[in-house]
Amino acid sequence: MKPVTVPFFISHQGCPHTCVFCDQRTISGTNGTLPSAEQILSRVDLWRSTAAGRPLEVAFFGGTFTALPEKIQTELLAPLQPLLAAGTVESVRISTRPDSIDSERVLRLSDMGVRTIELGVQSMDDAVLAASGRGHSAAESLQAIRCIKKRGVSVGAQLMPGLPGDTPAASLASLEQVISAGADFLRIYPTVVLQGTELARRYGAGEFAPLSLDRGVSLCKVLLHRAMQKDIPVIRIGLQADQGLNVESIQAGCWHPALGQMVRSQLYADLVCRFVPPGRCVTVHCHPARLSDVVGVKRGNIERQAVRGVQVRVIADFTLKHEELAIETEDATAVYSIISDLHYSIREV
Ligand code: SF4
Repeated sequence: MKPVTVPFFISHQGCPHTCVFCDQRTISGTNGTLPSAEQILSRVDLWRSTAAGRPLEVAFFGGTFTALPEKIQTELLAPLQPLLAAGTVESVRISTRPDSIDSERVLRLSDMGVRTIELGVQSMDDAVLAASGRGHSAAESLQAIRCIKKRGVSVGAQLMPGLPGDTPAASLASLEQVISAGADFLRIYPTVVLQGTELARRYGAGEFAPLSLDRGVSLCKVLLHRAMQKDIPVIRIGLQADQGLNVESIQAGCWHPALGQMVRSQLYADLVCRFVPPGRCVTVHCHPARLSDVVGVKRGNIERQAVRGVQVRVIADFTLKHEELAIETEDATAVYSIISDLHYSIREV
């Protein structure tokens, strides 16, 4: 059963850096204070009452958890220990920087119930990392992923296509490298320009051109497709407004409240375009969990097909995999897969 996440945003806490794109207080919507033991317990209790028996995972997002003083890390995790022992909380997830991880820290966290560590890798290109003020190298990211894996802890990599100096090919290479290194899952956050950041200054001065929404969606589509081919889940595409992102502070860049759906929808639309010639009338069957992606944001995919003279009716079919569509014409029904029946070149982005 998929756990329910009990989120805590610890904001800029523990982070000794100022990446050019980052205003953690804007992203998290908090003032940077850490939750007290009472606040942690009371929120877990609240989430538990609405979890309907599903397991709970406590997640400390934002900031750099492992760069906090060890005493504070322990204070944050200590209230959870009795709940972990009792099975009330199943696991803990933290996020941190690649250069703030080593075997000793992973072991200590693992002993206190941390089962997932998310790393802000952002890019595997050293020039992009330097231009973004990250303060760590790609080699450190590789080392961190391997170190976490070695200790049996699940590792996620966050990637940020569209950083200063980045290219679509470099973004794809970054994704492939973190997958090869053993990342268990990915988050893809196309770069946005937030007010008050160094990136906003560069943008205002004409020194930085962010990805547009259209180009960002095209790039994320290729990245998602490659991750699907490698069987690595992408658990999130685009910053999440309901986790405290102040949308008003976004000055430019690839952001939309339904960015992930836009990206997935394009994959399904491309599949229909590839196998249904113009002027046809078809019924498209898909897994029920993918209905809204197949229809598209505001029925965008249905309209895209209508422009080609293709009439589409979409119905749910539990027998299909998430990545499959069964396309039914007057003559026959054939099943196609996003993974094996679509091919993208990064040069198209
Ligand atoms: S390391 Fe993370 S929290 Fe720190 S400045 Fe960079 S993005 Fe923000």
